[in-house]
Amino acid sequence: PAANLLGEEGKGFRYAMMGLDGGRLNIAACSLGAAQAALDATLAYMRERKAFGQSLDRFQALQFRLADAEIELQAARTFLRQAAWKLDTQAPDATKFCAMAKKFVTEAGSRVADQCLQLHGGYGYLADYGIEKIVRDLRVHQILEGTNEIMRLIVARHLIEARG
Ligand SMILES: Cc1cc2nc3c(=O)[nH]c(=O)nc-3n(C[C@H](O)[C@H](O)[C@H](O)COP(=O)(O)OP(=O)(O)OC[C@H]3O[C@@H](n4cnc5c(N)ncnc54)[C@H](O)[C@@H]3O)c2cc1C
Repeated sequence: PAANLLGEEGKGFRYAMMGLDGGRLNIAACSLGAAQAALDATLAYMRERKAFGQSLDRFQALQFRLADAEIELQAARTFLRQAAWKLDTQAPDATKFCAMAKKFVTEAGSRVADQCLQLHGGYGYLADYGIEKIVRDLRVHQILEGTNEIMRLIVARHLIEARG
């Protein structure tokens, strides 16, 4: 009955879509955490594994990849927290920030996990070390809770609308 109406009539779809903002942060956080776990495991593996007389973490070319992964994850973490803060404080641009963070963090997480697999060499591709599972699991984060193409649509729409 009309007496039980929640919110404004005709805005149900909009309210449902707003519920996705938090879900997108959740998916981004899953990507971030799993990519961090992959990086932690990779650091341990590179210390242990020796090639050409030294451990993998002594090769400068590989150290640069570790540095890039750390930078990507820190940037992703900061962006995700900013979007979460926008949502918590009901900022008018919270939806845009949730979409931006979901796109950025899930793609950064996948890139880092893929690099971690590479740094494990052949073992990275096998199930034993758990890295290939992280790579597979993170890949779908660019698809579910709204694909990353749809995240771009949301961001672009906000940009264009803001200019009137
Ligand atoms: C593991 C998993 C779990 C899921 N869990 C849930 C769940 O719990 N609840 C739920 O409701 N759904 C869930 N989904 C569904 C998910 O949200 C959809 O798969 C996703 O939204 C994409 O829709 P689609 O598969 O129909 O792709 P399509 O809409 O067919 O899209 C195909 C491709 O075209 C692109 N595309 C489509 N339209 C546009 C456009 N206008 N502009 C640019 N590019 C476009 C897409 O980005 C994509 O790359 C889940 C999916 C997976 C894989």
